[in-house]
Amino acid sequence: MHIFKEIAPLRDHLKSLRSGQSSIGFVPTMGALHKGHLGLINASKNHNDITVCSIYVNPTQFGNPEDLAKYPRTLEQDIDLLEQASCDVLFCPSNTVMYHRAEPLTISFDKLDRILEGEFRPGHFSGVAVVVSKLFNIVQPDIAYFGQKDYQQVMIISKLIEAMKFNVQLHVVPTVREHDGLALSSRNQRLSVDERNRATVLYQGLRATQQGLIQGLPLSELRTRVAALCDSKGVRMEYLEVVDQDTFEVKESPTRAVILIAAYVGNVRLIDNLVVESQDEIA
Ligand code: AMP
Repeated sequence: MHIFKEIAPLRDHLKSLRSGQSSIGFVPTMGALHKGHLGLINASKNHNDITVCSIYVNPTQFGNPEDLAKYPRTLEQDIDLLEQASCDVLFCPSNTVMYHRAEPLTISFDKLDRILEGEFRPGHFSGVAVVVSKLFNIVQPDIAYFGQKDYQQVMIISKLIEAMKFNVQLHVVPTVREHDGLALSSRNQRLSVDERNRATVLYQGLRATQQGLIQGLPLSELRTRVAALCDSKGVRMEYLEVVDQDTFEVKESPTRAVILIAAYVGNVRLIDNLVVESQDEIA
């Protein structure tokens, strides 16, 4: 695997590959890699000649300095995992490479960046959009791979590609979960054993909401039930919403909906979601 910390040598390397007609798949990450990330790498390996992964903990998408400081950083281990997965290129820039000076640029997405994650993490999606734009310009991939685990982020990236005319195809990879349903996340590394066990309540809450919606129960009642379920495990639910998969408008029925949850397990904030295609598929 070729490892680059600077932009110019990475660009030169990719330019020579591109001129040989190689297609480039790109997997942007913040590191502390797990099987969820490796699913994106494998998808890219299956579709492209060359797979580029980036590892960069982007400060502009963190509103909370403690969350940024405590974000797990495991570069040596990540490099081993990427080597084992036969990733071709790793880009792991420093903050000075990515942001020469205080970044004046912000990107807004109307309502989409002010609801759900956007409401509880103001400025988060602007930071994501700015850094992904920079990475797209640097790597110029044919296909970029993002996880369904961050559903609202996928919506934001899709809008960004469309609006900025990036010549990049977006490929969404399903969420990889532990045996008990907990979605894999780098932040899970910050959970104690006890917190790790209690964190399964997010997935249980999503499943309970799915079943409740099929039975025709109102979302307000389901929200109260899931908040109580979380409470019983000492987990603080921040939101539980049901929105249309494509428009992100609030939805009461389970058809082509996505149920999204965010909750604090101890000091660690986790998110998850469950996509519901149609009542027929669930039955
Ligand atoms: P992150 O390093 O958390 O920024 O994630 C990098 C990419 O991996 C994003 O596109 C995430 O949506 C994706 N990802 C994270 N966790 C999972 C998971 N459990 N399953 C699938 N994709 C994931």
